[in-house]
Amino acid sequence: ETIGENLERTVSRFGEREALVDVAAGRRWTYAELNDEVDRLARGLLRRGIGKGDRVGIWAPNCGEWVITQYATAKIGAILVNVNPAYRTHELRYVVEQSGMELLISATSFKTSDYRAMIDEIGFRDVIYIPDLSGIYEDGGPIVADLSFDDPINIQYTSGTTGFPKGATLSHHNILNNGYFVGELINYTEHDRVCLPVPLYHCFGMVMGNLAATSHGACIVLPAPGFDPAATLRAVSQEKITSLYGVPTMFIAELGLPGFGAYDLSSLRTGIMAGSPCPVEVMKRVVAEMNMAEVAICYGMTETSPVSTMTRPDDNLARRTETVGRVMPHLESKVVDPTTGLAVARGEPGELCTRGYSVMLGYWNQPEATAEAIDAARWMHTGDLATMDGDGYLNIVGRIKDLVIRGGENVYPREVEEFLYSHPDVADVQVIGVPDPKYGEELMAWVVMRPGATPLTADDVKAFCAGKLSHYKIPRYVHVVDGFPMTVTGKVRKVEMREKAVGILG
Ligand code: ATP
Ligand code: MG
Repeated sequence: ETIGENLERTVSRFGEREALVDVAAGRRWTYAELNDEVDRLARGLLRRGIGKGDRVGIWAPNCGEWVITQYATAKIGAILVNVNPAYRTHELRYVVEQSGMELLISATSFKTSDYRAMIDEIGFRDVIYIPDLSGIYEDGGPIVADLSFDDPINIQYTSGTTGFPKGATLSHHNILNNGYFVGELINYTEHDRVCLPVPLYHCFGMVMGNLAATSHGACIVLPAPGFDPAATLRAVSQEKITSLYGVPTMFIAELGLPGFGAYDLSSLRTGIMAGSPCPVEVMKRVVAEMNMAEVAICYGMTETSPVSTMTRPDDNLARRTETVGRVMPHLESKVVDPTTGLAVARGEPGELCTRGYSVMLGYWNQPEATAEAIDAARWMHTGDLATMDGDGYLNIVGRIKDLVIRGGENVYPREVEEFLYSHPDVADVQVIGVPDPKYGEELMAWVVMRPGATPLTADDVKAFCAGKLSHYKIPRYVHVVDGFPMTVTGKVRKVEMREKAVGILG
């Protein structure tokens, strides 16, 4: 089945039910209305000469038209290129050129702002700004396109957490199945209302959000163009949301809102936390204080459409808060020694590998990078370090690139971060390795203090850890900050922290 066929099947079952709400724009669509607008845009794109295999960029914060563009391009077999709203000229030029973009659809707010100057600067001509999008809509009959579910349908650039973004090329089959199974495991029905404060340009929003919802007849609610914790919780109460998504930092911001207790969260049942390590304390608070008893943790990456493993509502609380669950249906996972490629014993850390329907077609026009990531037996090498227990539950212990080797001992920053979270004055914490002449690397903790708390010193941290953490895991340096350098997907950019740390330490 293609994405367009799947949408039409939902329309035939739930045509009159609500499909999409754009809270900021004050607009609502039923499934029949959504499909109608998707078709009108699809015909308009065809008329403009855009067809199967052509690359259509979308550069916009979350809005209803984003969703419409996603389905319209899928219906005509054009390849949607998700462009990160935070990109500036250098990155924009890169994705426009790297993807061979034919048309760029850009946000309303971008028409007058410096975004327009950036588009002009790179000399890209074929741009439609969203307020003008309806100008190309065409009425008419059914859309005829010769599509296969294995066709590439989407180029999604990775978050760029560890380096320059790479364009994962994904098919209908990849992302529709992945979205569908996320919806299955979280028990979506046409009665669910799914709130997406996460960016649509990333697979968290457009696959785990949009495709999971539309393949089950659930409603997509976009609370605001960018992340706004108050607007998110307001939307939860006003729109009777049953499922709320976020990366850990988003939930931390919502839980920390002044007047958090005043929001009516009684409609919530479930949600997804994913994207980066989910602190156990935060998960527990989400379950207890946000009424999200069934909240799931997902683990995955853009290259695998994205979800590879997920917790299930019937897993016990410890597993639902402390692990990233088990492998998804019809996928395989294994943990290997990165040097030998052989599976490690259960409980031992190694590189996590994923195989099955969700693995991308490849990196767009980067055959060498593709060959490095996907081996001859079709395993995707994730670059993440994980352990798998005897029952198949996985823990992500960190990224290979973030592993700190101090005096020959492997230190997983995640473990130290989890421990420091338990300090009552610590609101958020990240641990990195910094160069050290004696030990090769030393640990440095960046700490965000709770409001009103006295900034922690290296001695305070040492005293707090003494007797509880092995000496080589105790951070030697402590740096108090207001926040961390982040990607727009809400991930901490440790590369940037490491660069800055070298400057701070002199
Ligand atoms: P880049 O590949 O450009 O450096 P990125 O890897 O952050 O960026 P994404 O594809 O958005 O790009 O993110 C996938 C990564 O996010 C995974 O490889 C993993 O490191 C991390 N991740 C995702 N979900 C979880 C989770 N539940 N727990 C821990 N880490 C996670
Ligand atoms: Mg990655």
